[in-house]
Parts: sequence; C-alpha cells; structure tokens
Amino acid sequence: MTKKFTYSVVAPIYNEIGIVDEFCKRITDVMDSTGEEWELVLVDDGSSDGSTERIRELASVNKNIRPVIFARNFGHQIAVTAGLDYARGEAVTIIDADLQDPPEVILDLIEKWREGYQVVFAVRAEREGESWFKKFTASLFYRIIFRITDVKIPLDTGDFRLLDRKVVDVMNSMRERHRFLRGMSAWIGFKQVGVEYKRAARFAGETKYPFNKMLKLALNAVTGFSYFPLQVASYFGFASAGLAIIAIPVVAILRMTGTQFFGGQATTLIAVLFLGGVQLISLGILGEYIGRLYDEAKGRPLYIVSEAPEDE
Ligand code: UDP
Ligand code: MG
Repeated sequence: MTKKFTYSVVAPIYNEIGIVDEFCKRITDVMDSTGEEWELVLVDDGSSDGSTERIRELASVNKNIRPVIFARNFGHQIAVTAGLDYARGEAVTIIDADLQDPPEVILDLIEKWREGYQVVFAVRAEREGESWFKKFTASLFYRIIFRITDVKIPLDTGDFRLLDRKVVDVMNSMRERHRFLRGMSAWIGFKQVGVEYKRAARFAGETKYPFNKMLKLALNAVTGFSYFPLQVASYFGFASAGLAIIAIPVVAILRMTGTQFFGGQATTLIAVLFLGGVQLISLGILGEYIGRLYDEAKGRPLYIVSEAPEDE
C-alpha cells in the first residue's frame, strides 16, 4: 500500500549545486509549519555539477525528500512531469528550485486549496533581478500565447502552482511529448484561482532557460494549443489571390492604354520572391506540426529514470 500524504512539493533541479541545501531547508521549514505529512520530490534533470550526489545525501538524512534521478537532461517541463508522476500528495505544488518562487508562498496556495480551489496558480506581480530583455520577452510571450491559443492561459503565470490530486491524475493521463504544463492545467478546468506574489531574484547560479529554450517552450505552447499558425497560410493565400484578382485587370488596362509602369523584371522578381517566401514559411509551419506528429507516433517514454525513489 503506498503511503498517503497531504502535501507534495515537486521541484526540478538542473545544475543547482549552490542552491539545493538552502532550498531543502526553506521547504522543510515551511512544510513543517503546516503540521501535516509532506514530501519533497526532487527531480534531478541530468545535472553534472554534483547536484545529484548532494540530493542523494540530503535524501538520506531527510526522509521527506524523495529523489528522482534522470538518465540525462530532459528539460524543465519533463522534469516537472516526472515529479507529478511520483508525487503522492493530496495537494501537489510545483516550484522552481532556485528560490525565485519563495517557498513561503506555498502557504498562501494551500489556504486557497483549503477554500476549495483545485488549481491555485501564483501570479508574478513583480519580478526582481532579471534583465529587461528577459522580462520583456516573457511579458510578450504571455500576451501572444493568450491571444492566439484557444485556452485562456492566465497572464504572467509560470509553473509555480498548487494542483489538487484530481487535477494531477488528469494531468498524468495526458502523455503528450511537447509539454506546456501551465496550458495543460488551464485546459483541464475545475475551480481555478490566482494568488499574487513577488518573484525574487535567483538565490545563486544562472538561469537555465536561455533564449533558445524559451523559444522552444513558446513553440510548444503555440502548437500544443492552437491551429493559428496553420491558418495563417490560408489567410495569406486568400490575401494574395484577392490582390491578384484586382491587379490582373488593372495591369491589363494599363498595358492597353500604353503605360509602361509595370514593365521590367523587378516587379516579377519581387512578386516571385514574396510568394516564394510565404510558401516556404508555410511549409516550415507545416513541418513543425508534422515533426510533432512524428514524435508522438514514435511513442517513446517521456523520460528515463536512472534512480527512482522507493515506495514505502
Ligand atoms: N531546470 C531543469 N532542467 C532544465 C532547465 C531548468 O530542471 O533543462 C530547472 C532549474 O534547475 C530550476 C527550474 O527548472 O529549478 C527553473 O529554471 P530557471 O530558474 O533556470 O528558469 P528561469 O526562472 O530563469 O525562467
Ligand atoms: Mg529561475
């Protein structure tokens, strides 16, 4: 029989040797103050800086810590997914290990959960210690996603959230490969509410989310929750066809009246290059969706665990 817990905390860790100790300490303080049974599922996402060994050590002295160790780096969203798979709590909180999401906020999330909400997401009212570029791209990202996806994903909200067991079970049944967890949890429904908090600066180390990873996440968000990019091709098609229908008689009449305005190769070249460009971009978008289809069709496991926690 697997043991029942009230609270699970899930945190992904990728090369955070300067942080793991402090993180476990802060989580322990906060979770002990609830007076309930809790566990901390630490997912080591293929660290190579000694975090893995440190996590093992911490787990051997603190029985609340359950390490899940990956065979290699699979990325943040997949690490959190594994954490959700292993979590046994009635309420599961996803949190970053870098202490940008203050563990104390978990108590606010729990309070809302006790009021009967099944998804309590933490909204970043303010962010500290991040470059203007990161803040600007993040803000743009949330707004574009909000506009073009079919699910209303809350603005300025990361993965820091509390999920009820019911929601976690649904989430665990969704095995899509290119994951955008905050979109998935919005899609599921149930009673959802946001709690504002101030996002702190990183405790130590550097961001593990450089621009290319953010771009990948954004692509997962868009392709996972919207057909809009596929439709853009048809909009362009209609617009160019419409333009041609107007342009053909206009040019014909101009020619007949002797105007040489549209003569020469340049106009032809521009038209060909423009349409060629639009067609290639459309093909690229199609390719993006097809590649994702192919990944799903292969049906490989989402992650490979080299050490799983024992189930007592
Ligand atoms: N992370 C991970 N795998 C990765 C990248 C990041 O597990 O490939 C973890 C990282 O250790 C941290 C969390 O995901 O606990 C958030 O990453 P980070 O703080 O670098 O992102 P940011 O807050 O800068 O967006
Ligand atoms: Mg961070």
